[in-house]
Amino acid sequence: MVNEFPQVLTIAGTDSGGGAGVMADLKTMQARHVFGTAVIVAVTAQNTLGVQDFMALPTKLIDEQFASLAADLKIRACKTGMLADAEHVHAVVANLQRYDFGPVIVDPVMIAKGGAALLAADAVATVRDELIPLATVVTPNLPEAEQLTGLTISDEAGMVAAGQALQQLGAKNVIIKGGHEAQPTLAKDFVLLADGSAFWLSAPRTDTVRTHGTGDTLSACLTAELAKGQPMATAIKTAKAYVTATIAATIQVGHGHGPLNHWA
Ligand code: PLP
Repeated sequence: MVNEFPQVLTIAGTDSGGGAGVMADLKTMQARHVFGTAVIVAVTAQNTLGVQDFMALPTKLIDEQFASLAADLKIRACKTGMLADAEHVHAVVANLQRYDFGPVIVDPVMIAKGGAALLAADAVATVRDELIPLATVVTPNLPEAEQLTGLTISDEAGMVAAGQALQQLGAKNVIIKGGHEAQPTLAKDFVLLADGSAFWLSAPRTDTVRTHGTGDTLSACLTAELAKGQPMATAIKTAKAYVTATIAATIQVGHGHGPLNHWA
């Protein structure tokens, strides 16, 4: 039988400005040589200055998008991004249980860099209790890891504790992203693998405002690499290197938090 071209899926929200969400995911997937598909959960009116508005789609349409893919394509790995609220987290969880779309990479998107809430506060518990147990990999930044675990993370020991707590919640592999603006001293990422082994990833911190969509890009690249058959640790290191390169090779788009350069 002919080997099918690797097909991957993002389940997330759009960014009309092209820098984050589904748009960042598809650009990353294209750059990583896999075939990207998308289940749109929400539509945002957004640019590099921020999120002006958004609306989640009816869950019936989300079910139908999943069904369309399952009826025709062979999805080898998938990721989740902006899921809007508890009702939509439920809908996505039900579909992930219904269909086998390979490894599930959960990027637990909560708040955009500009401050807009992309997940309702009361849906954090739904993500923790229903989605995290399905996660092959979960990729929170520090504030998201704190929300999901209830821990306060102020040093590297705190990142390790949060990683272990996320595994106890059911995630197989965990990446805690340290490069968040709120904690400029913790630029390293902590990786805890399913077998209990762990390592740190550090990269030179680029001083730039053009970091819109970095989390989406990391999880989309990881999804692509896993679909191509990379072992977990290799896929994670490749994703980190890809994000670092796309941040460093800046392009000038918009007046605010500019997007990454996927031609890097
Ligand atoms: N918009 C959408 C639809 C997203 O999924 C995300 C991040 O996941 C963002 C915006 C936020 O992007 P950033 O915080 O990198 O600016």
